Amino acid sequence: MKFTSLAVCAVAALPALTSSFSLTPSKGQTGSAIFSTSADASVSQVERNENFAKLAGGYLFPEIGRRRNAYLEENPEMADRLISLGIGDTTMPIPPHILNGLVEGAKKLGTQDGYSGYGAEQGQALLREKIAKVLYNDLIDASEVFVSDGAKCDIMRVQQMFGPNVKSAVQDPSYPVYVDTSVMMGQTGMQDSKTMQYDNIVYMKCGPENGFFPDYKSLPRADVVYLCSPNNPTGAAATKEQLTEIVELCKERGSILVFDAAYAPFIRSENVPKSIFEIEGAKDVAIEVNSFSKYAGFTGVRLGWTVVPSGLKFKDGSLVRDDFNRVMTTAFNGASNIVQAGGLACLDEEGQKEINELIDYYLENAKLLRETFEKLGYIVHGGIDAPYIFVELPEEVGGSWDAFSMILEKSQVVTIPGAGFGPGGEGFLRLSAFAPKDSVIEACKRLEVTMKKD
Ligand code: PLP
Repeated sequence: MKFTSLAVCAVAALPALTSSFSLTPSKGQTGSAIFSTSADASVSQVERNENFAKLAGGYLFPEIGRRRNAYLEENPEMADRLISLGIGDTTMPIPPHILNGLVEGAKKLGTQDGYSGYGAEQGQALLREKIAKVLYNDLIDASEVFVSDGAKCDIMRVQQMFGPNVKSAVQDPSYPVYVDTSVMMGQTGMQDSKTMQYDNIVYMKCGPENGFFPDYKSLPRADVVYLCSPNNPTGAAATKEQLTEIVELCKERGSILVFDAAYAPFIRSENVPKSIFEIEGAKDVAIEVNSFSKYAGFTGVRLGWTVVPSGLKFKDGSLVRDDFNRVMTTAFNGASNIVQAGGLACLDEEGQKEINELIDYYLENAKLLRETFEKLGYIVHGGIDAPYIFVELPEEVGGSWDAFSMILEKSQVVTIPGAGFGPGGEGFLRLSAFAPKDSVIEACKRLEVTMKKD
């Protein structure tokens, strides 16, 4: 196995974006004038939000896309060979019953009786009830469900609710949105160029040594603890015991747990809760963000929800749900009514069956990827209750961005370097199972050659 230094890699961690926009200038404009920042009439007198200046680089996934495009620009003949096992985007079509829900939802809008305009910002009552019943077995109440346009957007809304004065804790590595939104909100200091950690965030190292579950007890207290299970990027799914421990700890320390369950339907193992509310006492400490994105191929359709328990309180005794409701009613106008009709179809018995089939398909892909790397002698994590596998890279690789570039150049397979998910991800590579099966089979064949150990 050879890991050569390539034009598209060269860095061990995500660097600041240096790409420039390349829009064609309109008549009378010179190319350099469009987005230039000095000696220009378009420069305002408005100070830049200093928190945005703290962000160390572009958001991870566009950066992956930029590097892929740079590679294709240099090697246009490879365009047809490219396989993406990178960003966790779904590829299978929306199944018939669920699709029909969307279509019928759209058709209703063309009739006088069926037409509806703005709806409740918290979502349609029927959908909130069905989420509480079908997905939570009535462990929560419909009034605690806030339907939205997705989990990523809800994480930012949760951050807006908490404001700049809280300290957040994140798993390291983790889905980059928790850290980046904390920075944007002004909760952090600068990023340390050596540790790659932001000041005033508690990084909870998650590696093979602790089963990818954070040891929050041994770390400084945080106000808000972000926990994702099944985890992106590590693919680890937390057990009931692990979740009970962190719920109890959050209670003891007065922290609020923000539980991201976007990959819950991938759970097949026993003793792995699909929701934090399966844990006793969780309603006293936890908020759960969730999404139809990976359930039903709704990544482009956009539908998610957040559960805020009615009894959860801030230090001053005020209700967290009231403030979240304030964010939703002020800065959101309700999820699309067409899309909510699709959500209702997802929760019908037939929709649930279709979702399970979709998930089985992706889990089969995950198994293929897992087996390919295991056969080559790698230590592989995840891929059992999650659509991601997290591969341990041998030391000679020289860094996960190097491995990313080497695989792109030699196999034309897009992966994600672990370092993109935080310093704790260095030394790992994440592969997504969300590709069509034939692409995964082909990628496995190529990886068997490229990743063969010497
Ligand atoms: N949470 C996690 C852990 C994710 O990995 C993703 C998307 O990849 C999201 C949330 C975003 O979900 P949505 O599409 O609902 O915004």
